[in-house]
Amino acid sequence: MKKCIVIGGGFAGLSTAVHLANKNIKVDLLESSPKLGGRAYSFLAKDGKTIIDNGQHIMMGCYRETFHFMKIIGAQDKLIYQPALEINFLKEGFTQIKLKTVSLPHPFNLLLGILNYQAIDFSDRLKILKFFLKIIAYSDKELSRMSVEEWLKKEKQNETINKAFWEVIAIGALNIGIRKASAKTFADVLKEIFFKNKLSSRIILPKYGLSETYCNQAQHFLETKESSVLLSHLVTGFKIKDKNIVEVQTDQGSIADFACVISAIPYYALQKLIPVSVLNKKPDLRYSSILTVHLWLKDNSFTEEFYGLINSSVHWIFNKKTHLTLVISDADYLMEQTREEIFELIIRELNKFVNITRDMINDFQVIKEKRATFVPSDTILDSRPSVVTGLDNFFIAGDWVDTELPSTIESAVKSGRLVAEALLNSKTCKFTFYNERKRNNVGKS
Ligand SMILES: Cc1cc2nc3c(=O)[nH]c(=O)nc-3n(C[C@H](O)[C@H](O)[C@H](O)COP(=O)(O)OP(=O)(O)OC[C@H]3O[C@@H](n4cnc5c(N)ncnc54)[C@H](O)[C@@H]3O)c2cc1C
Repeated sequence: MKKCIVIGGGFAGLSTAVHLANKNIKVDLLESSPKLGGRAYSFLAKDGKTIIDNGQHIMMGCYRETFHFMKIIGAQDKLIYQPALEINFLKEGFTQIKLKTVSLPHPFNLLLGILNYQAIDFSDRLKILKFFLKIIAYSDKELSRMSVEEWLKKEKQNETINKAFWEVIAIGALNIGIRKASAKTFADVLKEIFFKNKLSSRIILPKYGLSETYCNQAQHFLETKESSVLLSHLVTGFKIKDKNIVEVQTDQGSIADFACVISAIPYYALQKLIPVSVLNKKPDLRYSSILTVHLWLKDNSFTEEFYGLINSSVHWIFNKKTHLTLVISDADYLMEQTREEIFELIIRELNKFVNITRDMINDFQVIKEKRATFVPSDTILDSRPSVVTGLDNFFIAGDWVDTELPSTIESAVKSGRLVAEALLNSKTCKFTFYNERKRNNVGKS
């Protein structure tokens, strides 16, 4: 039987493998690390009992590809779905303000929700509404020429609005501030989140650690579909002959018996394995960091599931009951800071926003992810290659390939679905289907 080799066990690799296995194509997934998950995984904290994630992962109601993937692997109940958008914002001086859609038909539910958003004056709320109403009047070409900051300025959004509203959305959705994000990508995101339907803007969180939420379940699904997950298998190179990969070399030996190969590893890792000329575009990616601090309090009196902070260097606080998870996005400026320096910054902000002082904290753990996401600037977005390559039996997946989405779980999962479709439609790739019915009948007379 001719199987497919998938390289990389993050969302993209798992999505590819699951979509193929779901169509009765046998897959071997090779992952260099001893665990699945890539940039979205969990592990045991240094207290030896709490499972923590490398970073809080938020999904939105518009993550349709992700929900479909979760459904295939039987994990849709491992997510917590908000019924409708509701965010508790904190302002310096312990003030809490809600941004909440109201129960009206879409899009009035959102427009009225914004009119009720007390973090800014009423006249500024009207300016936000005006902005929303004008989004569709802009062409992609016009937007491509501007940063989000330039666009907001043009539409007379002031500093207060930017800090209390637009910056929060840009940082949350794109992991980058309004100065660096492309207006075109931002408009696409706003349309997806706010203009699609009533449920697109709600926030969805994993119920458990990320590994339990999707990795284990995806692995189990693959194993029931005659596919294998091979951990601690680092792919080191390929042998190419006549426009085909004929051998995959790993630190555990070589594999030659396969129909096709799908890379679902980051571009910087792929570049070391294969000439970039096989891709139909040469990506020009720059990355943005995320810093996560897990914090164990002596007494956790937070009541909400999560909080957004307005005008703070800490962007989000997630209440995990046993501990808090603090998120700082667009965090390149903190990557060289020591653990103690980061702790000082966190304490300063917590003190101002939620009245927490040093003596109220038992312990903390800092996680720096330098290449968390790629920067969604226009030049970068235009340089993304598609899932098909110049080789007949080689495809690429990953949040960085051309999915028309920013660097997110949704993009990674979509890339996997696109690869599966390309492969199924390929005339040159000679994979075979395994026969589900025959397998189920084994042993029956
Ligand atoms: C801290 C943090 C917070 C984030 N928050 C959000 C969020 O809230 N919402 C959201 O949508 N997105 C978020 N993201 C982005 C999201 O995690 C990524 O977009 C997504 O996980 C990318 O998946 P991927 O499969 O494309 O790549 P990766 O997850 O990077 O997976 C690639 C895999 O390939 C493996 N690999 C690499 N080289 C080799 C090799 N030679 N051989 C074998 N295996 C190899 C790696 O070990 C890795 O497991 C966040 C990212 C981080 C880091």
